[in-house]
This record gives sequence, C-alpha cells and structure tokens, in this order.
Amino acid sequence: MMDLNEDYYKKVLDNLYDGIYFIDQGMKIIYWNKGAENHTGYTHADVIGKNCWKNILMCVNEEGIKLCSGSCPISQTAADGCLREVDVYIHHKEGHLIPVSMRIAPIRDLAMQVVVAVEIYNESSPKFTLHQKIEELKKLTLVDPLTELGNRQYIEINLKGKLEELKRYDWSVGVLFIDIDNFKEINDNYGHNTGDQALKIVGRTMLNTLRTFDIIGRWGGEEFVAVIVNVDDEKLATVAERLRRLVERSGISRNSDRLGVTVSIGGTLARKDDTIDTVIKRADKLMYKSKASGRNCISIDTRVKVNMSG
Ligand code: GH3
Ligand code: MG
Ligand code: MG
Repeated sequence: MMDLNEDYYKKVLDNLYDGIYFIDQGMKIIYWNKGAENHTGYTHADVIGKNCWKNILMCVNEEGIKLCSGSCPISQTAADGCLREVDVYIHHKEGHLIPVSMRIAPIRDLAMQVVVAVEIYNESSPKFTLHQKIEELKKLTLVDPLTELGNRQYIEINLKGKLEELKRYDWSVGVLFIDIDNFKEINDNYGHNTGDQALKIVGRTMLNTLRTFDIIGRWGGEEFVAVIVNVDDEKLATVAERLRRLVERSGISRNSDRLGVTVSIGGTLARKDDTIDTVIKRADKLMYKSKASGRNCISIDTRVKVNMSG
C-alpha cells in the first residue's frame, strides 16, 4: 500500500477500533493498529510484511482445526470479494488461544487497489459493521459535507501521491485552482442558501466533467482544486476550458429564471521539485490573473514541460 493511504488509515483507525488489520493480495499484513496489538500481543513491527497464517495468528475453528489455504476466510474474501463474519480462535503472541469474532471486508484504498480489511473484536466491541465504520470515517475526514466532494485533506492526500509519482516515474500531473466569480454578490443578493446551492451545482458539474482518474475537491470557501493526471499544458488548458464552459452553462434554477454562475481558473503542471504548497500557490496566482483579465476565463502556465506517458 502506498504511504499516503497508510498515513490516512493509521490516522483514522489507530485509536478507534479494537483490532484492525489489512492484508494485501499476497496475504501479507500491511497495516496493524493498536487494537490489534492489544488483542494479540503482536506489535506492528512483529507482523508488518508477514503472512498472517505463518506463525502469527494461525486461526483455528471451534474444533481446533487450523484454517489455512482454501478454508481461510481471509483468502476467501480476497478471492471472491464477499464480506464475511466468522468466530474463530487466534493465537496470542504468548501462545494461548483467544476467541474472537472477525469481520472480513474487501475495500479499495484511495489508489483503488483492493485490500482486505479484518476487524477482530470481542463481546465488548460495538456492533457496527466494519464497512459502515470505514465509510463513516471516510466521510468525516475526507468529504466536504455541503458539496459532497472531497475536502482539502482529500485533495492533499491525492496530490501528494501524484507528486511522488511524478518524481519517481515521471508521470505528469496538473493542478487547476478554481474560484467562483463574484460569489459574495450571489450571497448578498439571493441569500446564503442560494450561495450554498451554487457551490453544490458548480462542484457537481465539475465532478461530472472530469475523467474518473482525475480528482476534484473543495479547497475551502468558494474555491475548488482539480488534480489532472497524464497531461501536458495544452491538455490542461483543454480540461480547464471545458470546466469553465460547463459551469457557465450550468446555473441555479430560481422559480422561473436561472441564476448564472461562472468561475475563474488558474492551472499549472507540477514540477519535480514542487510540494503541495508550491504547486497550489502557482495555480492560485494564475487564477488571480484570470480574475484580473475580467473573470470567467482560464490562465495556464505554459512554461512547465513534461513527458507524457501513454
Ligand atoms: P471574486 O470574483 O474576486 O472571487 O469575488 P468573490 O465575491 O467570489 O470573492 P470573495 O472572496 O470576496 O467572496 C467569497 C465569499 O464566499 C465570501 C464568503 O462569505 C462566501 N462563502 C464562503 N464559504 C461559503 C459557504 O459555504 N456558503 C456560502 N453561501 N458562502 C460562502
Ligand atoms: Mg476565493
Ligand atoms: Mg470568488
């Protein structure tokens, strides 16, 4: 699993659940939280990168029969993608067996890779499903409640990963900074609720416009950031122009009339020495250039050149 996802899961899961661990497709343990340490006696360092059935948990059923290969519920979930709940015994590091319930769920991490999440709990644990908990946490930490787009943290996590890919593999990435024009006027003239509605409409329109592997989120206030992969400056300009035009064509229905809304956009390709901060600042500065040019337009940095993959 990539660092950024590990950071994310660590942060949200470490202190919240009894025992959670993640297994990759090769049945290796890639995440192990504090609760799992408490339950099993195995520390993070003991288990990371190891196969869970090799001298670690070694699940056995009621009859004391070791669950392995075909009968292992985790590998079954890895193979068929089905959620499972099983009561098993696991080996504590000190050697004794402990009875636990396990919920085993296939999940996709932010890079869309499938990993298997396992929750170990006992009688005293709350009885929410693992899936519900993860969805709830994702919402709390990464989704902007108004627009239901990703929030700033979501953008930062994604952008961080893309910048690393640019450094490591030369995969290009562009950033668009998008700000609604004269938004204060919408609030002042039509009220805060209409302003909120405008934010939702602009967000949704842009989300629907992008390719599935590009991301967009709400940076804050009436500002959005899109992260566009596999682009050169011309393609980035094309995407920005499409966003601008479609937002212009959208609008808020108010009784019989339609309230128009426009955006100003600044865009730049990331450079290998960029950080989240430097690339966002550059795009933001270019957005202000669009404001100065009369709004409802785009400004793209044409100085950064990249190799396009594919
Ligand atoms: P410009 O074209 O220069 O960007 O002008 P502007 O009016 O859009 O810019 P300004 O930064 O002055 O105004 C942004 C406004 O957005 C101010 C703030 O009250 C409003 N705003 C920020 N968050 C929200 C929100 O969640 N809902 C609503 N309705 N308004 C918001
Ligand atoms: Mg603004
Ligand atoms: Mg604005």
